[in-house]
Amino acid sequence: MKPTQEDQFCAYYRTLIAAWGPQHWWPARTRFEVIVGAYLVQNTAWTNVERALRRLRSSGLLNPEGIRRTPLPRLQAIIRPAGYFRQKTHRLKTFVVFLDQHYGGSLIRMFAQPAEELRQQLLALDGVGPETADSILLYAGQHPVFVVDAYTRRILDRHHILPAATKYEEIRAFCERSLAQLRTGNWQPGTDLQPAAHSPSPMSRAPRSSLAQVYNDMHGLLVAVGKSYCLKSKALCENCPLQKFLP
Ligand code: SF4
Repeated sequence: MKPTQEDQFCAYYRTLIAAWGPQHWWPARTRFEVIVGAYLVQNTAWTNVERALRRLRSSGLLNPEGIRRTPLPRLQAIIRPAGYFRQKTHRLKTFVVFLDQHYGGSLIRMFAQPAEELRQQLLALDGVGPETADSILLYAGQHPVFVVDAYTRRILDRHHILPAATKYEEIRAFCERSLAQLRTGNWQPGTDLQPAAHSPSPMSRAPRSSLAQVYNDMHGLLVAVGKSYCLKSKALCENCPLQKFLP
C-alpha cells in the first residue's frame, strides 16, 4: 500500500533525527528570553537577535520587570541591533502589559492556560502572527503546537506535499496530524554533520511531553535542512538526507 503523505512526513522525521539528532531549540536560559527572542527575530537574522539579547541581559533587563520599568528610549537603544527597534520595543512593552493584566505578571499562570485559548490571546497582540505565537507556545510554554516557517513551506512544496501558498493553519494541521503518531526516545544520534544545531541550553532541555519534544525536534531539523540544503535560491539535493523522498 502506498504510504500516505502523513506517513511520509513521519519518515522525514525519523531520517533526520537519526542523521543529526536533536537540534536543541530554543537556545535560551529562560522562558521570557524565548518570548523576547520570538519577537526580536522577526525580519532579521538570529545573530542580530543574539546581540540585542546580550545587551538586555548584561543590563539586567531580560525579564518582565526590566521591560516594564525601563523607559522606551533606553529600551530602544538596547535592542537596536535587532532592527525595527521602535516597533519591537513597543511590542515587548505591550506583551508585558498583557501579562500583567491577564496573569498578574506570571508566566507560570499564563502557560497554565489551555494552548488554544492562550494562542488566541497571543494572536490578538500587536506583532504576534501564527509563527510567533506558536514559537512562544512550543518553545517557552512546552505546549505541543507545531511551528510552521518558511523552511517547512519550502520543503513541503518541493516534495509536492503542500504548495508553498497553503494557509498556515492547514500546514500546521498536517504537520501535527502526521507527527502525532510519533514519540521520541527511539532515535540514535547520527554521525553526520549537524548543520544548524544549537548548543544545549536550559530551555532546550526543559521538561516537556514526548509530543512537544517531537514538534520541537522536527521544527529544528527542518530549519537545518532549509539552511544547509533546501536553499531559497536552489535545492542542493545531492547530499540532503531527504533526497530519497523526492517525488
Ligand atoms: S534539498 Fe532537495 S531533497 Fe532536500 S529537502 Fe530540498 S528538495 Fe528535498
